[in-house]
Order: sequence, then C-alpha cells, then structure tokens
Amino acid sequence: MTLTVLFAASNEDWHKYGRALSDAFTQEGLDAELVTRASPQDVDYIVYAPTSTLQDFSPYKNTKAVLSLWAGVERIVTNDTLTFPLIKMVDPGMTQSMVEWVVGHVMRYHLGMDSHIVNPQREWEWHSNPLAQERRVCILGLGSLGTAVGEQLCRMNFRVSGWSRSAKNLDGIETFHGSDGLRDALATGEILVLLLPDTAETENTLNRETLAQLPKGAYILNPGRGPLIEDAALIEALDSGQVAHATLDVFRTEPLPQDHPFWAHPNVTVTPHIAAATRPVTSAKEIARNIVRGEKGEAFLNLVDRARGY
Ligand code: NDP
Repeated sequence: MTLTVLFAASNEDWHKYGRALSDAFTQEGLDAELVTRASPQDVDYIVYAPTSTLQDFSPYKNTKAVLSLWAGVERIVTNDTLTFPLIKMVDPGMTQSMVEWVVGHVMRYHLGMDSHIVNPQREWEWHSNPLAQERRVCILGLGSLGTAVGEQLCRMNFRVSGWSRSAKNLDGIETFHGSDGLRDALATGEILVLLLPDTAETENTLNRETLAQLPKGAYILNPGRGPLIEDAALIEALDSGQVAHATLDVFRTEPLPQDHPFWAHPNVTVTPHIAAATRPVTSAKEIARNIVRGEKGEAFLNLVDRARGY
C-alpha cells in the first residue's frame, strides 16, 4: 500500500525539498506519496521542520516516525504530544558544509588573516605563522558534525582535542568527557569550536568560569546553538582579552537583534546561521533510506534520545 508522508514545514521549504524528497522515494524504491495535507490517521511518516505550524502530534495515531529536516531538534524534542520516534537530520551535504565553514574560520584565525585583509595603516609587520601541528583546536561536541570537523582538522595536522558526554576513542583526537573532563578540554582550546546540541545541560557551557579556563587570547567559533554561550560573559571575556575573537553563527534570538552588542563588537564576526544548511538532495536520500529501514522493521538511524534531549 502506498505510504503517506506528510511534509510539515513552510512553503519555502516545500519548494526547496519537495521535489528532492519525491525523487529520493522513487530512487530508494519506496511506494510513498509526499503530501502537505492529510487526515492525521492516514499519515505514516512526518517530515518536519520548525518552520511548520504543526504543534499537536496527538491526532497522528498511526504515524511511525517524525523525520526532522534539522540536525538541532531543541524546538521539537520537548513536545509532549510527540510519542513516536523522532529522528534527527544527519546529512552528508550538511556535514561537508559544516566542515568547510569551521575549517575556513580556523584557518582565518590560525593564519591571522584579518590583520592583512583590513590594514588601513599599510603596516608591513613581518611575522612567521605557527604550523598547524603547533596549534591546538578543541571541539566541544563529538557527534556527527564535531567528529567530521575533527577528522578534517587532523588531516590538516592540527592538534585536535574534543569533549563529549560519553567516552570516545577517535584516531588522532585527544578526547575528554563528562563534566569532569570539561576543564581539561578547555585548557586545549586555543581555537574552540562549539558543536553541542541545545539542551538543558549544555546551556551556558561557556560562562564566566569556563571562559576563564581557556588559554589567554583564545578564539571561539560557535556554529552549534546560541544558548551554549552566556552572551554577557563572552563580551566581558572579549573586552578583557581573555578571548581574542569570536565568530558566531547562531544566537539566542535569530535574526540577531540590530541592537545586540555582538554586532558592534570589533572582535566579533556574526554570520547569519549559514554554517551548514540541510542540503535537499543528500538529506532527501537519508530520509528515504530511513523510511525504508522502518518499513523493513529495522531500527531507525539517528534516533533522538528524548530524555537526553538530542
Ligand atoms: P550529535 O547529536 O551527533 O552530537 C552531539 C554531541 O554533543 C555528542 O558528541 C554528545 O556527546 C555531545 N553532548 C551532548 N550533550 C552533552 C553534554 N551535556 N556534555 C558533553 N557533551 C555533550 O549532533 P550533531 O553533531 O549532528 O550536531 C550538533 C549541533 O550542531 C546540532 O545540535 C545543532 O545545534 C548544530 N547545528 C548547527 C548548524 C548550523 O548551520 N549552524 C547546522 C547543523 C547543526 P555523546 O557523543 O557522548 O552523545
């Protein structure tokens, strides 16, 4: 019987992903129809983004899973009406995009590019840059994105470390875990990359106390989520020189309000949540493959643990 897959996201998302999803269903041999409206009891799967108005999942009595178009699931994970499996987006296209964004900004800091790109005084200040093997980069969050970023930085010879909730063994990456491991991880963060999910536990991971545990003059990249950083504490750390510069892609309120001090701070670069968009073709394939698994009675990939919040 033809499966009904409800597309619950904005019109803009429909134009972006609709065709790619239908094509992926065909390519993966799924007999499934992608629709934007259906009687809840007829819906087998829901492809979801927070741009949707869907809030109440309780009428969807026969639905087998919600497949999120976003990697960050903080806006749906606490929805009590959702009682069936929630799957987060892991998309090779998005992963590549995140690797490129992080590597680009790591290289910018590593090579001190800003002082050459903006040099109104025409200063000829010769210096030799350290090599990658002399530069420590720490990644908070070693999930699908953090691990891919770490592996690429290792291939470029950086000294890479990382921190996660559970213990990890990753080739070439020095790993720390749990609340006890955070201090040691931060001490390795000459360049610190935040790739944690937004949960009750990760909120304000960077605060006055933890920012002080970074090496003096650290650089921060936050492509994770805004609430990972206590904004006022970061501004203080930038003003005191404890943090030399921060590049922030995500914020507590998006778009970042015009009067937010991050816009005006000389040592902050704001990027408008562009580090890693979900890519239509590659993400559609992942969604189709996960539905195929569900129909075969196999376990879904990338299931969200509702208790942990990611
Ligand atoms: P994953 O769920 O795969 O990985 C999350 C990582 O964070 C895991 O290593 C996990 O540890 C660790 N973690 C979670 N909670 C804690 C904690 N309390 N203490 C220590 N470590 C913790 O996520 P992804 O890699 O797919 O994505 C990470 C985040 O990136 C997303 O949640 C999203 O917010 C953001 N993102 C941003 C985008 C952008 O464009 N700016 C695009 C896509 C994602 P463990 O491995 O032990 O479970």
